[in-house]
Amino acid sequence: MTCLLGAIADDFTGATDLAGLLARSGARVSLRIGVPQTPPTDPAPFEVIALKIRTAPVATAQAEALAALDWLRSAGAQRFFWKYCSTFDSTPQGNIGPVAETLMGALGARQTVYCPAFPENGRSVYMGHLFVGRTLLAESPMRDHPLTPMRDSNLVRLLAPQVTGAVGLIDRLCVARGADAVHAELRNLAHDGVAHVIVDAVADADLTTIASACRDHALMTGGSALAMPLPALLRKGGMLTDTVSPLPAPDLPPGAIVLSGSCSDMSNRQVAAYLAQGRPNLRLDPLNLAQHGADAVFDWLKKQDLAQAPLIYATSQPDAVRAAQAALGASQAGEIIEQTLAACARMAFDMGARRVVVAGGETSGAVTQALGVTRLDIGPEIAPGVPWCYCDIGGHRAALTLKSGNFGTESFFVDALEHLEVS
Ligand code: ADP
Repeated sequence: MTCLLGAIADDFTGATDLAGLLARSGARVSLRIGVPQTPPTDPAPFEVIALKIRTAPVATAQAEALAALDWLRSAGAQRFFWKYCSTFDSTPQGNIGPVAETLMGALGARQTVYCPAFPENGRSVYMGHLFVGRTLLAESPMRDHPLTPMRDSNLVRLLAPQVTGAVGLIDRLCVARGADAVHAELRNLAHDGVAHVIVDAVADADLTTIASACRDHALMTGGSALAMPLPALLRKGGMLTDTVSPLPAPDLPPGAIVLSGSCSDMSNRQVAAYLAQGRPNLRLDPLNLAQHGADAVFDWLKKQDLAQAPLIYATSQPDAVRAAQAALGASQAGEIIEQTLAACARMAFDMGARRVVVAGGETSGAVTQALGVTRLDIGPEIAPGVPWCYCDIGGHRAALTLKSGNFGTESFFVDALEHLEVS
């Protein structure tokens, strides 16, 4: 089998989100952590490469994305998907636009679309403005994200400084007229030299319209939901024929650990709900870690009964995050937390934890790298866009779930653990 679609995700939770949605179609999906060091053997029809480049320097992000593109091309892929967050998380420098432009250059593509909408999770784009539920992005809790505070909701305005080519919009009125209308409008815009096209979508049907309209595009970009219609479209076109049965859950010992480095509104509520259950827990304070190191954290962890699924978290409200960042700098504060949670994951795994629940995209990247995971198999979804993933770590089967900050409901941590017990 050759690869039909090669996807590159800018963070690890985004990659499992995308892989989980593609796997809903019953097609085989393979998720690689980082660009594989070896050439592809037996590629899946859907190959997803997870990178950790959302807030990396622009040149690093571009170079890693190009390496991923090369690997996916050698797996046979001719169509590609650049996956970023459904809340368009990026800094003013990028990396959504610069990576898209780099991939377009390598593919000889004159135009691509941008659609972060994920209707099932309340993300929609209307008249170029991104909504989180009924709230504009810049008025949502995303305005206080520790690394990528989103202070504008207008995607055209957000993308324009990130790219050299012209940015345009196809609005919901055009999308409502169907795939042929969107296809024609893309051509009109291409004729006018518009290389980067934001496309409105408020419902899943809009995403199918957009994906159908992009049939000539070598590259599409968006949140995971825009890729969801692609397996069905490929099946309809006769390109995709195989179906695989869902993976059985591995038989795992009871040890588990929950690690939360996300400061999103939903992660704060999920941590509070888990604490209310009286679970063993430890709160990380970046200032304390910077001053005294993490030995006290490791001492605490050593004494824990992992059958109780203890929680270690840095999840905090925006004022506490601002205070830590003022003292340490945003990236240093983030780095201390990520490295501490990553070391805790490694230690808990060595103590026997075989189920690891992680909240936070950057946090998930750090944890997954510390565990030395290179490939994940996609298991059942716990919440939309958050599947359990199975992997081998040092000869042991383990289960990992990587939750993007905003995803899941308040009971997510318990749901995740229970889901694996019964599936
Ligand atoms: P999300 O999925 O919500 O975006 P991420 O893990 O991607 O979560 O990003 C959260 C960032 O905030 C990480 O770099 C994390 O280390 C950092 N962070 C977590 N807790 C704190 C804190 N208390 N103070 C400052 N930064 C923090």
